[in-house]
Amino acid sequence: MLSINPVFVRPGEATEFDKFVMPDGPSLPETAYQIVHDEAILDGNARLNLATFVSTWMDDEARKLYLEAADKNMIDKDEYPATAAIEDRCWRILADLWNVPDANDTIGTSTIGSSEACMLGGLAMKRLWRERRKAEGKSTENPNMVMSAAVQVVWEKFCNYWDIEPRYVPITPEHMVLDGHELEKYVDENTIGVVAILGQTYTGAYEPVEQIAKKLDEIQQNTGVDVRIHVDGASGAMVAPFCQPDLEWDFRIDRVNSINTSGHKYGLVYPGVGWVVWRNTAVLPESIIFHVSYLGGDMPTLALNFSRPGAQVLLQYYQFLRLGREGYREVQQNSIDVATYLSSEIERMAPFELVSRGDTIPVFAWVLKSDHTDNWTLYDLADRLRMKGWLVPAYPLADDLSDVVLQRIVVKAGLSRDLATALLADIKGEVAYLDSLTSPLPDRVAGRGQFHH
Ligand SMILES: *Cc1c(COP(=O)(O)O)cnc(C)c1O
Repeated sequence: MLSINPVFVRPGEATEFDKFVMPDGPSLPETAYQIVHDEAILDGNARLNLATFVSTWMDDEARKLYLEAADKNMIDKDEYPATAAIEDRCWRILADLWNVPDANDTIGTSTIGSSEACMLGGLAMKRLWRERRKAEGKSTENPNMVMSAAVQVVWEKFCNYWDIEPRYVPITPEHMVLDGHELEKYVDENTIGVVAILGQTYTGAYEPVEQIAKKLDEIQQNTGVDVRIHVDGASGAMVAPFCQPDLEWDFRIDRVNSINTSGHKYGLVYPGVGWVVWRNTAVLPESIIFHVSYLGGDMPTLALNFSRPGAQVLLQYYQFLRLGREGYREVQQNSIDVATYLSSEIERMAPFELVSRGDTIPVFAWVLKSDHTDNWTLYDLADRLRMKGWLVPAYPLADDLSDVVLQRIVVKAGLSRDLATALLADIKGEVAYLDSLTSPLPDRVAGRGQFHH
């Protein structure tokens, strides 16, 4: 019977499942598959999702490895010692890439993404500060953390969840990134650390870590307060080592205690894997490390999650072997070339002004010139592009400049020059359409654009 039952008219497929109540009985696997599969096709096409930083393409061998390893739990170090050893190799490879001073005295871990990695970096700073203050017999009541107003939302969460006062340095047209300007007004003896972002999510811009560190040197000379840096390299830490090797932003700078990155962004792995590495074991207080037994030995672990997929860690190692330094450089440089090609073409279009060019990480943003039109906004352009399948969000800038609306493109491996040319043709076509309107489109609710911080 089953084999001649045509798909879509079988029991369950010809009717509708209740969306919020578990069905009473089982269905055929083919039926359950078809229903979930069909519902998911209503999602946007991941390859045309130029809003996300997260990988939307891996090669066939990676996909094969993913399927083979889908059942591995990263936390089962004793049961999956090979995966555990590969995790260890991966963060050591990153420590080396980020110029850790002593390869035998560093520590790191994989995480579910940069959010968990940032939280661990922040927690280590908080604990380090608290232990120092206690040893000095001083108050540990009011920790604060200093960062740009344009940080990714994880830092707001970190401060909220762990009762730390966030001190946001405002962004202004002159200081679009945290650059040390007036840092002395924000930093004091209760500052657990400063966050420097390598690859601001709004624009792709790098914060000048070296300049921030110099300012903190000055502050220490003047006040005795010694404040360290965590670099949020969610995107940039997997681009700068290959494409801007002379830029000093990593452990070459003494004040950098820890660095995180998203393996699933420019680490070129499917979601979700992230990494965090500390300069040395001294900056990661022993009191936040747990020890689990591993092959009869001792395995230090540090994580917010317990169970999580092991497959992504294997995929990260696959990419390291598959690409090597030169391969990563080629892939990222190609994305930068596509981004700068797109940004230079968009810059030449009358309505637009660039905010960034995509020459740091391959991410750039633009604004609509204020005198161009009253008939349409970047939100309208985003809607028009969505009708063609492209997801190119418009969104307001961070606090202080939140009346400025940006549109942003995140170029990733898989956005070929050919696709980029097609995208450009669609942008031009839609702009021509919008410019042909003789009266304003209905007003948009500010901030309705979906924005991936
Ligand atoms: C994406 C991003 C994060 C969060 O990373 P996830 O891997 O998505 O958890 C944090 N900081 C910055 C700068 C980011 O770009």
